[in-house]
Amino acid sequence: MEVTPSHVADVAGVSVRRALPRHNRRSIGAWCFLDHMGPMTVDDNVVMSIGPHPHMGLQTVTWLVSGEILHRDSLGSEQLIRPGQLNLMTAGEGVSHAEESTGTFRGEVQGVQLWIAQPEATRHGPAAFEHHVDLPKVELKHGTATVIVGSLDDAASPARRDTDHVGIELDLGVGACLLPLVKGYEYGIVVLEGSLRIDNQVVDPDNLAYLGLGRQEVLVTTTSPTRAMLIGGIPLREPLFMWWNFVGRTRDEISTAYLQWQADDERFGSVASSLARIPANHPLWLSEP
Ligand code: MN
Repeated sequence: MEVTPSHVADVAGVSVRRALPRHNRRSIGAWCFLDHMGPMTVDDNVVMSIGPHPHMGLQTVTWLVSGEILHRDSLGSEQLIRPGQLNLMTAGEGVSHAEESTGTFRGEVQGVQLWIAQPEATRHGPAAFEHHVDLPKVELKHGTATVIVGSLDDAASPARRDTDHVGIELDLGVGACLLPLVKGYEYGIVVLEGSLRIDNQVVDPDNLAYLGLGRQEVLVTTTSPTRAMLIGGIPLREPLFMWWNFVGRTRDEISTAYLQWQADDERFGSVASSLARIPANHPLWLSEP
């Protein structure tokens, strides 16, 4: 197992721990982005609001441990997300969304946002949005696993899946848990609260643990209550070109998307949000207009 530090990034003034992508690890299965935000306190002075911005070629998974966030997108969706519920937005050829403070919620907010790269078959397809309140849970020896995407044992999430991958939240007590894995998947673990041990190595919230391929199970040991995300899937065969909020395959695709967003092209639609659209930085490879 390889344990490497996440790096600190800034998202709309909020400091996050970015576990993916990284230089030597661009993706785990089709998972190509993982930000751990918070825990932070939202009050009259501190809000977490991200204005309308575009995506393409990916699905966003928003998962909260605490707090609430309001999702609005260019499909017309308006959805309050609460802990234990899944927001899954499929960008396809193009979508835009905003993630806003509710305006009334005060207290702790913690969560993760992940991206799943879409395969060739769907990445140019239509955008879509799903919200799932009831996700299957699997009782472990010392805790509970919530199957967010994909399946664990006989429990399968109802969430849309365009590639062969899994996303699970582990809510662990104290002790040792043996988790079944899929041999053809590569896996990663990010701890949100507490800490755990795998293969005699400690994983805490500042790290990404990469478990590699070929395991049929993993023994996870905890000495205090711990919450973690387990992600995995069949390794991607084609290299991704990721830039800003776009996932593509070539620089030209990204350049086109950039120019269309800057020009307010209908490709990305519009979001009924009072927040300002977020402009992209000019790509280094494009000459100035
Ligand atoms: Mn987004």
